[in-house]
Amino acid sequence: MSTLPFPSSVYAARLDRASDLAADADLDAIVVGPGPDLQYLLGVEGDTIERLTALVLGPGIRPTVVVPRMELAKVRSTAVGELGLAVADWVDGEDPYALVAEATGQVARVGVSDALPALHVVPVGDRLGVSIELATPVLREGRMVKDAEEIVELRRAGSAIDAVHLRVPGWLRAGRTEREVAADIAAAIVEEGHRSVEFVIVGSGPNGADPHHEVSDRIIEDGDVVVVDIGGAVPSGYNSDSTRTYVVGAPDDEAARRIDVLIRAQQAAVDAVRPGVSAEQVDAAARQVLAEAGLGEAFLHRTGHGIGVSVHEEPYIAPGNDLVLREGMAFSIEPGIYFAGEWGARIEDIVVVTSDGCERLNTAPHGLTAV
Ligand code: ZN
Ligand code: ZN
Ligand code: ZN
Repeated sequence: MSTLPFPSSVYAARLDRASDLAADADLDAIVVGPGPDLQYLLGVEGDTIERLTALVLGPGIRPTVVVPRMELAKVRSTAVGELGLAVADWVDGEDPYALVAEATGQVARVGVSDALPALHVVPVGDRLGVSIELATPVLREGRMVKDAEEIVELRRAGSAIDAVHLRVPGWLRAGRTEREVAADIAAAIVEEGHRSVEFVIVGSGPNGADPHHEVSDRIIEDGDVVVVDIGGAVPSGYNSDSTRTYVVGAPDDEAARRIDVLIRAQQAAVDAVRPGVSAEQVDAAARQVLAEAGLGEAFLHRTGHGIGVSVHEEPYIAPGNDLVLREGMAFSIEPGIYFAGEWGARIEDIVVVTSDGCERLNTAPHGLTAV
């Protein structure tokens, strides 16, 4: 029985494409370690451990998985088994880097995935007698543009996290701690169809002013603006990520006004998304609305990040990124405003670029929800 999220033909096509892209980039071989790239190419993440597990591929190379024998059964249950890829297993005491060299043959230029531990990068380079390069530009190509099956999974993740946000008002109230609210949210993330909770941010009052605040034992007070940024992975491994801003009781007028500007900034960025537009133009669309309202300084981060088998991946919707958007790219649009010591707000939806605009995968209401 297959545990793969997609038919094995999908993985065969991804492997072929990665080899072609490697050839275009003049790389003779690519070594992919455990992590999101391996999950994308083979359907399993693999374990990041001191024992080398790696997929070796490249133009003219038969894709080969180098794996500790104790992990062999697990690897066989992935696309490796269904596609009949070559497997080179090894036991403690043997040299796994020699197996990599056997798979590649004579090579001059070799790239590695972002997530291959340095612990393995150095000996792979030594054994192959080459200086190792990053295969990021090759590996990101496949992952950045989602196919129809992947978009179905991202939609599934989007609906699941929307269902959680719709339940948040039932848990958020004065007198409870952020941690208590976060525990209810985490349980709901799984109940609503995720296989795992990836993160739960509940930033109440001044804690909301720190974009990287997670949770604390702070007791939520009447009048608090609360940032709730949550996500999980659905069974296929694709992620959700959505932020809404809530207010306990009634917001003060100035906070309500600023949050209204934020909602317009988020909408302006969503409206700017279409094929042919650059990532930085989408970022600028949000930034401009905030700047015109005098809130430019309060926006402390990029507008968004790609999403797929990892929560943060390319394309990054950020100043200086001239990458041109293509149909099928999926990323967040999440401008925020932060007032140190006071409060913060962020609105985040995942969008997928369509032929003439984008599809929004999160539909929970944007407005400040009073609880
Ligand atoms: Zn971050
Ligand atoms: Zn988020
Ligand atoms: Zn995000």
